[in-house]
Amino acid sequence: MAEKMKAVRKLEPKEGASWQEVPIPKPAPDWVLVKVRATSICGTDVHIWKWDPWAQGRIGEKRLPQTLGHEVAGEVVEVGAHVKRIKVGDSISAETHIYDPGDLTALLGSFHVGEHMQILGVDCDGAFAEYFAVPESVAWVNDKSIPPELATIQEPLGNACYAVMGEDADIAGKTMVITGDGPISLFAVAIARTCGVAKIILIGKYDFNMEIGKKLGADHLLYTNKSTADERYQFVRDHTGGNGVDLALEMVGSQDSIVDCFRMVRKAGRISAFGIAPQSPLPVDYNAGIVFKGCQIHGISGRRMFDTWYRNRNLLAAGRLDVSPVITHLFALEDFAQGFGAMTTRPRASAKVVLFPDPAELAAARKRLGMK
Ligand code: ZN
Repeated sequence: MAEKMKAVRKLEPKEGASWQEVPIPKPAPDWVLVKVRATSICGTDVHIWKWDPWAQGRIGEKRLPQTLGHEVAGEVVEVGAHVKRIKVGDSISAETHIYDPGDLTALLGSFHVGEHMQILGVDCDGAFAEYFAVPESVAWVNDKSIPPELATIQEPLGNACYAVMGEDADIAGKTMVITGDGPISLFAVAIARTCGVAKIILIGKYDFNMEIGKKLGADHLLYTNKSTADERYQFVRDHTGGNGVDLALEMVGSQDSIVDCFRMVRKAGRISAFGIAPQSPLPVDYNAGIVFKGCQIHGISGRRMFDTWYRNRNLLAAGRLDVSPVITHLFALEDFAQGFGAMTTRPRASAKVVLFPDPAELAAARKRLGMK
């Protein structure tokens, strides 16, 4: 096997990244080595690309250079000596949250949050490369019928699944507000529709993305740039028998969006808190908005392992969940800068951007998605 590979690396503490030749990683005894078939750009990668204050604080100069990326699908080409479950030839994706089995949360079954958890492509080298290595414990075996451009997006699809389902998956026949028009909001629309949510109100800003939301099954589109907060609140009341929605998914993190969700959720409803606020703490109407409302606030950090992976794999493989409209751009991995360009252009005209190390895989994916 070759010794070297190409990878998208953050070399210096400034905006951008480089296409660099590096050694192919050697898997540790309980890790597997994977040949990347497709990898997709996440908001986290954009933070690291921009080297914004979050990336500076979270990664810092000392750890550079580092390979970006964590959303991925590929084929296992080598396994460490202690690996049992995963085999060479398996098609896998990576759960990004590399848990520590000794953490209390892991022992209690909440693997996705842990004191000593590491994140692929943030705390260690990631998957924007021809090969990457990952612990067996977070390698998820894909159904081989799922094409790589869909297998790679299962990680953010898992965030959406977790936000929609909450802890009890009590969603059938209920009403839901989803804020934001980024890929995870759009995935949430598709999952909510597939899993029986009765009414979906999508609140966003950009036509291009909102139209995808409509295609995926949003019943109503509310534009934040064409309505006031009171108008949006009134609309939601009018469409829920005056009660407010059962479930509000906050996926923006702005003060306006958070306030919308606290107001729109009905008494004893549930808010899924996924968006990251630009500053925290932030003011909320604690008494009327939470205590007397009797609502639940559910923090969404990552996705429940491996419940969300299991549900999404089944739905994708069965053809019951079609999220392909969310994949708007495909590029060769070495053209990653174009991918980041598509992700950061405003007004927004992109959702999910997928990158392929192999040009033949790129061409096949273009054909499957009917793209030129
Ligand atoms: Zn991600």
